[in-house]
Amino acid sequence: MLTAAELDSVIACEYQDNFNLFFDGNNPPAARAGVLYTPTVLNIAMDCDLLLQLCGEKLLAAGGQIFECTEFEQAFLEPEAITVQVRSLATQQTQYLKSRLLIDAMGTASAIAQQINGGKAFDSVCPTIGGVIKNGFGPGVWDHNFGEPLYTNGDISRGRQLIWEMFPGSQNDLTIYLFYYHHISPENPGSLLELFEDFFACLPEYRRCDLDQLEWRKAAFGYIPGRFSRNAQDRTSGCDRILSIGDAASLNSPLIFTGFGSLVRNLPRVTHLLHTTLEFDLLSGPDLGRVNAYQDNLAATWIFSRGMMAKPQSNLPPYWINAILNAFFGVLSTEPPPQVDDFIKDRGSWSFMTRTILKAGLRMPQIPWWVMRAIGIKALLSWIPTYLTFTGAAFLSFLFGGWFPTLLNRWQGPIASRSPQLWFRLLSWSYQLTYGLGKPKLQLKLLPLSPAPHFEPSPTEQISSASR
Ligand SMILES: Cc1cc2nc3c(=O)[nH]c(=O)nc-3n(C[C@H](O)[C@H](O)[C@H](O)COP(=O)(O)OP(=O)(O)OC[C@H]3O[C@@H](n4cnc5c(N)ncnc54)[C@H](O)[C@@H]3O)c2cc1C
Repeated sequence: MLTAAELDSVIACEYQDNFNLFFDGNNPPAARAGVLYTPTVLNIAMDCDLLLQLCGEKLLAAGGQIFECTEFEQAFLEPEAITVQVRSLATQQTQYLKSRLLIDAMGTASAIAQQINGGKAFDSVCPTIGGVIKNGFGPGVWDHNFGEPLYTNGDISRGRQLIWEMFPGSQNDLTIYLFYYHHISPENPGSLLELFEDFFACLPEYRRCDLDQLEWRKAAFGYIPGRFSRNAQDRTSGCDRILSIGDAASLNSPLIFTGFGSLVRNLPRVTHLLHTTLEFDLLSGPDLGRVNAYQDNLAATWIFSRGMMAKPQSNLPPYWINAILNAFFGVLSTEPPPQVDDFIKDRGSWSFMTRTILKAGLRMPQIPWWVMRAIGIKALLSWIPTYLTFTGAAFLSFLFGGWFPTLLNRWQGPIASRSPQLWFRLLSWSYQLTYGLGKPKLQLKLLPLSPAPHFEPSPTEQISSASR
């Protein structure tokens, strides 16, 4: 989609290194750790405006159309096509667009994704707020060659373990976020405004600054929701002629919430599978449901996310999230850097994850007990099937992942010409064995895409209420 030179042109800043450090002033001695350096994780700041512009230009050059300031209203599913009703916010005019397939990329609040998943609520949410400071802090406070993905400077307070993030951008700008893993409850909705107030109150404690001297370029805020998928069938990303991608599909890591990263990492898999469904007209719900970014190794991390939520009413010691983070990151700092890198980039293997959990448990034997107290025995038991599914998937990947995709690549022509359905299922399985376990190694050739059937745009009056 983009050449290396084009990608280079959207990089705003690249860091020499990244620091991760957690407050340990009140921790037991076993739960103290130094800085974990992650020089190749979240080490590139991108200029989103430029990236969007570039992608828009590519789409137009490929014959696409962009309807600016136009809102999706509803879609009408017919046996041979899907018709989308949109409304221009500028003119209030309604338009109908007909297609073979509708791709829903409307993010976590997508009404389509809600509908095809039966209105199921999110399992977790990270209230995140912050902003971009023009020209950063004063001289000598922060070196722009370094980022700080995770930093805590205090313990749990009012049921929240606040975590800071800081990333330099172009022209000495600094992006700073404050977030926490929130335990959803009606009594404690997790106000963003309240968090903004805490942000400004605590910012000078985080980094030396005079708030009145800072120049804010923009504010950034949102609830980043997550789902705890127990297995590949838990969340539906497709129904007849509709496919959800990105945050609408919500298959990113429930621990690190990097939805953009998750989509980009799975882009070869999702685009290849999508290409195949279009090529062979496999646009039913079950087929489109296989076009997804589900990863067994990420699904298993929901327990960590759950364990980072501090309920206000729980009587856990205030230092306990910092203690767990220190114990876990302390173990990570003793592991080979490439494996740590893989883990943080959603590519953690079964053996790595199991080993580090056991090591952290041995380092601080209180951890399993604390986790049980924090999340409850029911949640802990419900994680076991997810872990067993991950174990089974890792075993299958070990048995077949090395040779099956290569063999499939060789037999692509004969299988696809005899049974497109079988070819598609084998293809999606081979991606599940590789990308699905965080091993993005598969390089399958794309079959040429036959020209798509041509649809005349339907004039409004041709859509009868009966066909709606
Ligand atoms: C403060 C913050 C920091 C983050 N930091 C990171 C990070 O460092 N790394 C990372 O990987 N991820 C990060 N994320 C998550 C990341 O932003 C999302 O995962 C990503 O933007 C998802 O992209 P998307 O295209 O699927 O959805 P979105 O970016 O949510 O885009 C959905 C789009 O659909 C539009 N839309 C919705 N409804 C309609 C409608 N009815 N009609 C027309 N348009 C509609 C919306 O306006 C929006 O433009 C962060 C999120 C937040 C809030």
